[in-house]
Amino acid sequence: MTPASGRAGLSDPPTLRLLSLGAGVQSTTLALLAVEGALPAPDLAIFADTMSEPRKVYAHLDRLVAVLTDVGIEVVRVSQGDLGADTLSTAGFMRLPAFVQGAGNGAAMLRRQCTERYKLEPIRREIRRRLGARTSATGAVLTPPPGAVAEQWIGFSTDEIGRVKDQRVPYIRNRYPLLELNMSRQNCLAWLRRRGWGDTPKSACTFCPFHGNRQWREMRDHDPAAWADAVEFDRRIRQRTFRGPQEVPFLHRSLLPLDQAPIDQVQRKELRDQQGDLFDLVEHGDPDGCSPYGCRSGGEAA
Ligand code: SF4
Repeated sequence: MTPASGRAGLSDPPTLRLLSLGAGVQSTTLALLAVEGALPAPDLAIFADTMSEPRKVYAHLDRLVAVLTDVGIEVVRVSQGDLGADTLSTAGFMRLPAFVQGAGNGAAMLRRQCTERYKLEPIRREIRRRLGARTSATGAVLTPPPGAVAEQWIGFSTDEIGRVKDQRVPYIRNRYPLLELNMSRQNCLAWLRRRGWGDTPKSACTFCPFHGNRQWREMRDHDPAAWADAVEFDRRIRQRTFRGPQEVPFLHRSLLPLDQAPIDQVQRKELRDQQGDLFDLVEHGDPDGCSPYGCRSGGEAA
């Protein structure tokens, strides 16, 4: 495995080494490997905060930040704002990959635009700033000086090797330490359990339409506050004016209000789709939630 891939400065030492901290299983493993010294300490870890994650994710992040800070690894939280509040207040514009009536009988998923705007953009802005980029008169952080390159660690495990791709910006080159260590997601889970981090949650917005039925059930049965938030959010995203059914959004692919959606059973149509990825997705959702680079359902946001 090539330890690093990307377009810029492959052989040059990076100006900056950082961990993209999604706070799910894989990036938590990377962070703790660095704490233990099994990986060199990154200069910083960046968490992109949509301000819309369930409380247990923030509690997990707080615990992780304390451990990282204790060994001198800086953790930066960047944010583009509150994705949930923005979605409810931005009339007519839906960045979430919500479900709407498709052209045939079934549901169609809107294009995911939230990850790019609320995770990738703030991360890249912070990286440019750390690399010494100037700020324009309008406050935009410009391109970093030539030769300045950040090595960004991304927590893809061996089961996610298909997601590896080059960065689209020349000042970042990606590195995948879990692949170098030949660690699968199951390896990460076992490794975390042995260290008392077995309850690492999936990191994703409470209302994410990529949740599978199992994730919705777990939320309903074990995190009633988050479930109530999601049900209310789902109700409120339809309190807008729509030109037709193709624009009426739902969080669940059944196109039913979340508290009426058939999350306790896999529908017959979904069973027919078992050959593809859809069955897994309907039932289990993304295995690690939505990391900036690893959302299975959409890949890195374009
Ligand atoms: S978790 Fe879901 S809603 Fe939140 S940024 Fe990721 S894809 Fe969008």
